[in-house]
Amino acid sequence: MAKKQFKAESKRLLDLMINSIYTNKEIFLRELISNASDAIDKLYYKTLTDNISGLARSDFFIFIESDEKKRTLTISDNGIGMTKDELEQNLGTICKSGSEIFKVEEVDDEKIGEDIDIIGQFGVGFYSAFMVAKKVEVTSKAYGEEKAYIWTSSGADGYTIKEAEKDTHGTTIKITMLDDTDDENYSKFLTDYEIRNLVKRYSDYIRYPIKMKGEEEDETLNTMTPIWKKNKSELTDEDYNQFYKDNFYDFTDPLRVIHSSTEGVATYNALLFVPGKAPFNYYSKDFEKGLRLYASGVLIMETCKDLLPDHFSFVRGIVDSADLSLNISREMLQQDRQVQVIAKHLEKKIKSELLSMLKNDKEKYEEFWKQFGMQIKFGIYSSFGMNTELLKDLLIFYSSFEGKYTTLEDYVSRMKEDQKYIYYACGDSIDQIANLPQAERVLDKGFEILYLTEDVDEFTMKAMMQYDEKEFRSISDDDLGLETEEDKDAAEKSNEKHKELFEFMKESLGGKVVSVKASTRLKTHPVCISTEGGISLEMEKALAHQPDLTNRIKAQRVLEINTNHKIFKTIQKLYKTDKEKVKTYTDLLYNQALLIEGVTVDDPVAFANSICELM
Ligand code: ADP
Repeated sequence: MAKKQFKAESKRLLDLMINSIYTNKEIFLRELISNASDAIDKLYYKTLTDNISGLARSDFFIFIESDEKKRTLTISDNGIGMTKDELEQNLGTICKSGSEIFKVEEVDDEKIGEDIDIIGQFGVGFYSAFMVAKKVEVTSKAYGEEKAYIWTSSGADGYTIKEAEKDTHGTTIKITMLDDTDDENYSKFLTDYEIRNLVKRYSDYIRYPIKMKGEEEDETLNTMTPIWKKNKSELTDEDYNQFYKDNFYDFTDPLRVIHSSTEGVATYNALLFVPGKAPFNYYSKDFEKGLRLYASGVLIMETCKDLLPDHFSFVRGIVDSADLSLNISREMLQQDRQVQVIAKHLEKKIKSELLSMLKNDKEKYEEFWKQFGMQIKFGIYSSFGMNTELLKDLLIFYSSFEGKYTTLEDYVSRMKEDQKYIYYACGDSIDQIANLPQAERVLDKGFEILYLTEDVDEFTMKAMMQYDEKEFRSISDDDLGLETEEDKDAAEKSNEKHKELFEFMKESLGGKVVSVKASTRLKTHPVCISTEGGISLEMEKALAHQPDLTNRIKAQRVLEINTNHKIFKTIQKLYKTDKEKVKTYTDLLYNQALLIEGVTVDDPVAFANSICELM
């Protein structure tokens, strides 16, 4: 029979496995046991939903057998099994988890050492058998089928599939161990002692008995209690971290573990994790939120999205509830009252855990914020402010006060008596914002400014409108509430006085601004741009980044002039003698103000020419 070749990607993974200098080869057993357990889950679930009689939960088990003389290790399960096609598809083609590795590997190609470590962290599944095997034989009979098949491979040169004999449904995987080398003792994986050890360490929570032949009768090696059903006191940080990494394809420890169980309106155990790093596709459409859902210990859905609100979509974990019916279909689940009750509970729980992290470990919270803060802000914005109450105290912003992150609560507690608003400023970076001409007056008053650097920030502020009855106000806004009556009078007089000149300047800008006026907010700078009508320059910029949203939305710009500045005096003089030059000056000032705001000038060449002309 002709050998079939592995698909290209699978072959790469195989090569990686076979040639791996990864020291943790022992994980192959965990991977095979976990596959066996999944296969039993699938069949058990089927018996429940399809009402198949004659198979009880207690009939299922995984069996390990070793033969030290023949150097073989056999792992059998009486799960759902595989048809011939499935053997071909599942074992001839790369698994999903495997393709994740390639992504990582491609990024860090030269760091071989690191990606080998990654192998151990990810669930790499079936292929890991080739780290210890000369030859792998998989005999499988799918539930409800007559025929069994055997898949055989000695590694990268391909595989064969033939008909085989097998009495019961399920899968038997027979590994012929590699010979021992100077560096690696493969024989130990054939000893009872080591097998026992490995099962305890990696597979203790598997919910079906993992058996081995004992002196008199078969012996069960695992305790079968899933980690989320164990007492917190029995578990170490390491246990949680390991469970997280094994189950959620991450190789960074989680930032926070939430382990809770509740009885009452809803009865469930939950084990949730706040990841340390956002997955590479987190802020894209490909990302799927959701928690793994079990009903009384039986997996019913890998990612149940109805358990998590969008603003906490970064949370990973599992929920196990005794209240759910096993037959529930995906469509029904959405409307299931119990699922909704659990989701509400979890939302509250996650919020309170995040708050406690913010309070007790601010550094860690800032780490969290860098990864997922945008999602929370987006939660306020995209709900048009409806989630404000829930999320507002989770927000932190970089502040001019001590140059640190602050909560809104702390900001308000520091507000001065004559301070009407919570001030914020937007820009591309903290440094750029700190240098905005508009910031000067606000800071001089001793008022604090929140520095917003992400696109979503200002939209979030607009959606919230206020915190603790204190309105938000951009320092580029028309009215900053700083002006005394005298200031206002003076500005009005000034506008009156220079009406003709301002009108001329506005005309010369040809519709780029809605008005030119005397400023009450500038001290040392000659000009700045402010906006009228609710859309700021930052919002205009953010909207322009959106793929198909109307980038016709433009801020209504106002050119504000510091009438006490020497440049203005010069312009006044020129207005009498050389109107053309006033036009050039106006253009330069306008563009300069835009540059300070971090907005690109409309016509850089013309701008450069104007400068040269003056020089
Ligand atoms: P993963 O488990 O991450 O999907 P694997 O490479 O470990 O990747 O397995 C590939 C597929 O082969 C599994 O998804 C499953 O469908 C099938 N499989 C593996 N082991 C078994 C088994 N013992 N019984 C039935 N199917 C199995």
